Order: sequence, then structure tokens, then C-alpha cells
Amino acid sequence: MMIDFLYPDYEIIRNEKRCITCKVCARQCANEVHAYDEELDCMVADEKNCVNCQRCVSLCPTRALKIVKTNNVFKENANWPQVLITEAYRQAATGGVLLSSMGNPQPYPVYWDKILINASQVTNPSIDPLREPMETQTFLGKKPQTVKFDKEGNLLSESYPHLKLEVPFMFSAMSYGSISKNAHESLARAATELGTFYNTGEGGLHEDFYKYGEHTIVQVASGRFGVHKKYLEAGAAIEIKMGQGAKPGIGGHLPGIKVGEDVSKTRMIPQGTDAISPAPHHDIYSIEDLRQLIFSLKEATHYEKPVIVKIAAVHNVAAIASGIARSGADIISIDGYRGGTGAAPTRIRDNVGIPIELALAAVDARLRDEGIRNEVSIVVGGSIRSASDAVKAIALGADAIYLGTAALLALGCHLCRSCHGAKCNWGIATQRPDLVKRLNPEIGYERLVNLIHAWDHEVKEMMGGMGINSIEALRGNRLMLRGIGLSEKELEILGIAHAGE
Ligand code: SF4
Ligand code: SF4
Repeated sequence: MMIDFLYPDYEIIRNEKRCITCKVCARQCANEVHAYDEELDCMVADEKNCVNCQRCVSLCPTRALKIVKTNNVFKENANWPQVLITEAYRQAATGGVLLSSMGNPQPYPVYWDKILINASQVTNPSIDPLREPMETQTFLGKKPQTVKFDKEGNLLSESYPHLKLEVPFMFSAMSYGSISKNAHESLARAATELGTFYNTGEGGLHEDFYKYGEHTIVQVASGRFGVHKKYLEAGAAIEIKMGQGAKPGIGGHLPGIKVGEDVSKTRMIPQGTDAISPAPHHDIYSIEDLRQLIFSLKEATHYEKPVIVKIAAVHNVAAIASGIARSGADIISIDGYRGGTGAAPTRIRDNVGIPIELALAAVDARLRDEGIRNEVSIVVGGSIRSASDAVKAIALGADAIYLGTAALLALGCHLCRSCHGAKCNWGIATQRPDLVKRLNPEIGYERLVNLIHAWDHEVKEMMGGMGINSIEALRGNRLMLRGIGLSEKELEILGIAHAGE
């Protein structure tokens, strides 16, 4: 028999004085960690499958449970941390590629935490957002270089297809399949209520959600799952996914276990089969090819919808974005290396790509230098964790923000990073009917609306503090930012001065 060298990552601590053996934990844990022992008349746990999703902790009526990281340690070795040793054991047992979910958790620098925001004092007075008008509406798409009006005040300049956002936030691409129908419904309803957009991801559009089309961005990815004329026509904008922050350079992977009847119908693939989208689009090998696809999609939708091109933040992102801006795209979406995912090879997720902060600053500067910044809008994601991250991103040049992980947190996600296992105990990243129904779309939608309202209010407060009253005036306003503890090179790329300067 092969020895299992793996020791559980977590331990369940049960306060026996509080436990009333109601068995809620056993019923709630899809990983079958808890069980009732009839002989002993008490609850027992087999921790090997615990992913620390906190479902049992949250639902235990007597607060009898807590999950702690195991303190079982291997002999110290600075070169071989415990996590690498156990990963080698795991691969030696299975022969498989390690899979993970959600964003890169490695302790790389988070530049948002090394940037500080300005505030007005004495001169250039601050603005009170509760008493004075404050504009967080934003428009995405190509902007005319000059704006001309006739004598009656009618706009003469050509206007281009655009998206109008009442708040500077959108929900980023998360496919039906990787997340549940109830999660999608929550996002679709929240986007509609907020006057913004959610994104189908590469999984097609479930027929029940066509009614949210005006607030939907439909994605076209390399696998072309669920892409057809009616789908393209349903959305307010079309996003071509060239790359994703969590897994730059590779395609998508939805495990067959998540491809039930409804998902298979929506994606137009056989039930139970893995949905693997190829790394490249097989019709795109150059910017010219990309341009052809952009204009094919525009043609198919009568030049009425803006086309977004989504790329992962990689080393030469500024040059790539410059090519995209010249290819006819209306919006460039850049996804940083901390962007979430339903499933990615761990080595790719944790080692490929660059921070969104540096990518955004480099792209904005390059497009300005080349005089083509108004040809496209820039939307960034991966990962924006708070309203202050968002303000910093806009001041670095973003027109709007894509929220993925933050939106899932609003729905109850506990970042256990086990979405690929398809047993999300919170009903988000699963297709198992008994788990999906745990997420009530009515509550999910309300929580998303609350989160965005709260962030929008905080954005207004920070803008007011700077004496700025619109997103348009904040966009690319790097004078409002200062770095702290950053090297000259990092400051140069970010295009900001050091605190104190
Ligand atoms: S997997 Fe989640 S529900 Fe199951 S024991 Fe661990 S924390 Fe509790
Ligand atoms: S969506 Fe579910 S499985 Fe994925 S990280 Fe969040 S709680 Fe875990």
C-alpha cells in the first residue's frame, strides 16, 4: 500500500461543552469532514478534506467550532518550505498538474498598499460629497478628439458605441459553469439595479438571463462556447478574451464535473465533458488577425456595440495594448496576476504575469505618449480589493474597474481557493443543485448592490477630499498619488513621486 504522506492542512477544534450534536456541520460540509459517531454519541471529524471554507463555523448554532492551521511541521528547510514538499508528495501520488482557484496568494508586493492618496488643505478646497454634486458616472469607449456643436447646441462630432456606467465598477467575467446559476443571477440583477454591467465569461448566456442583456457583456473566448448570433446581439458589449490574469498564456478549463445539463446546453458542449478552451484563438496570430475578429463582431452586431479586448498583464503589456488600441477595439481590459479563476494550474497562477498596478501605469503612459489614449478606454481588474484601490487605479489611468473576487466575497465566498473541486459550500462555484440553492439570488443581489453603493460612496469621499468632483478629473491624475517605500524604478514605472516630494 502506498503511504499517504499528506498531513491535513487544518484542524477542527470543537468545543464539546458547546456542541449540541445538532449535526448541522455534517449536513453543511460537502467535503464530508464531520460525522456523528453513534457509539460515542458525539461529532467527530476527519480533517483531510477540510478546505477551510468556514461554512460549518458560520452555521454552527452554538459557535462550537473553529478551524485552525495545523501546527504539525516538517524539519525547517529554507530552500524547501513545507508547501513545496507536500506539493511534490501530491504530484508523486497522482502524476497530475496541480490545480488551484482564485487569485495568486504569494507574498509578492501589493503596490496599492505602497501608494498614498492626496487631500486638499487650505488651498484648492475639498468638496463635501454629501452636500455638493459628485460625479461617479463614467463612459467607456472611443472618445472623439474634439467635440463640436451646432448653433442649437446639437452634437456635431461623431460619437462611437459606448457603455454608460452609473458607478465606476463592473463585475468581471465569470462563466456560468465556473459559478452557479444563482451567482450569475445575483450579478445580473445587481448590475441592472446599479446601472452597470456584468460579464458572461466564456460560458455563454443562459436563456433565463437574456432579459438582462442591456447590462450584460458577452464574452468571446478561444473555445467559442455558447457563441452564436443571438448571443452576440443580446449583450451591450462584446469582450474578446485573449488572456486572463490568473493564467496568462493558457486557455480555460472547466472540469466535466461542473458540466451538467444546463451548462452543457448553454455552452453547446456534451454533458460531463471537460470544457477546455485552447491557449490561442486559432484565428488570431497577429494584431491584424485580432482586428479582423473585432470588425467581424462589429459587423455582426451592426456597429452598435463597443468591443472590449481583454488581456492578462504580462511583461510587454504596454506594447500589446498599443497594438490593440490601433486594432479597432473600443475598450482594453487588463487583468492583473492576482485575478481570480475557477481553475488554473498552480504553477502558472503563482508565477506568471505582473501586478496590475505596474501594467496599468505602463499602458496608460504608453497610450498617452503615442497620442492614442482617447482611442480606447482602460478597464482594470485582478485585484481591486477596496474603494481606495479603485481610486488609486483611476488616478493611475483606469476608466473603470472590474470586480471579480470582491463580488464573490459579497456573495459569501470565504476564499478557500477550492472552486475547481466543484463542491463550493457557499453555492457559488458549484453546479450541485443542493449546494447551488444555498445561495439565495435575492440576498446575493442585495449584498452586491450594498457593496457597490458603499464603495461608490467611499470613492466620492476620497475624491471630495482631493477637491475633485468627477471620475473624469481623477482619471490619470497621478499628481494625486505618492509612493511610499518604493524604489526609483518602481516610482518611474508608476509615474508618481515619493511621499514628501
Ligand atoms: S470544508 Fe468547510 S464546512 Fe467542511 S469542515 Fe472544513 S470549514 Fe467546515
Ligand atoms: S467560491 Fe466557494 S469554493 Fe471558491 S473560493 Fe469561494 S468559497 Fe471557496
